[in-house]
Amino acid sequence: MSKKFVRFGVSGDRATWYGLLENDTVHSLDGPPWEESRMTGKKYPVEQVTLLPPTEPSKIICIGLNYHAHVAASQSADEAPEYPLIFLKPPSSIIGPGDKIIQPAQSQRVDYEAELGVVIGKRAKSIGQDQAEDHIFGFTCVNDVTARDLQKKDGQWSRAKGFDTFCPVGPWIVTDLNYSDVLVEGILNGEVKQSGRTSLMIFNIPFLISYLSSVMTLVPGDLIPTGTPAGIAPMKSGDEIEVKIEGIGSLKNMMA
Ligand code: MG
Repeated sequence: MSKKFVRFGVSGDRATWYGLLENDTVHSLDGPPWEESRMTGKKYPVEQVTLLPPTEPSKIICIGLNYHAHVAASQSADEAPEYPLIFLKPPSSIIGPGDKIIQPAQSQRVDYEAELGVVIGKRAKSIGQDQAEDHIFGFTCVNDVTARDLQKKDGQWSRAKGFDTFCPVGPWIVTDLNYSDVLVEGILNGEVKQSGRTSLMIFNIPFLISYLSSVMTLVPGDLIPTGTPAGIAPMKSGDEIEVKIEGIGSLKNMMA
């Protein structure tokens, strides 16, 4: 059965906790859910806690240009890549549900990118595609926020993708998902702008995990945003951006 795991804080306490979310109640755990953690016995109504990014990854490994329709609409490539295009976002870019995305002074154009995120549950080094599922802990919503003008200007993507607040993640991790065919939507101020099924990915998730594990060791908690469907566009101050994924839920953030 699919479970939902969160990270959270409680008002008046500086500690943060991982938790199991069941029927609007958060049961706190004594460690990350991908370890042999146990319930502490403490529980809270979900509306009384602050949900945090549901993982603290050692690295965020993103896949670029992984949907044909996005490639066709993109100015970063003329045709689909022959092998996965990978890039990194720093862990310092992560924010949680409800946190604000901040437009950097250096950029005139900041875009949303709604993406399905894979969370690693077990160390993976040079594994085969057929083993990949054993290394997945679960799935979450990610917004791969991008300073589009700087992405073009720099020729590589570290600055454009790496600003603080440019990686909203959450609101939770679901452990079981028909990941090969779910709807991924990017919704700007209530209007659906992106709508693509993961069945339209150029490189599927087991292939991506195997491929990445041949480059760098994946460790529990690592986050892999798997690429965005067509329909990216800029955000402006006051906009609300929602990443909605079938079987997971909605991640909402505002542009400051
Ligand atoms: Mg992206």
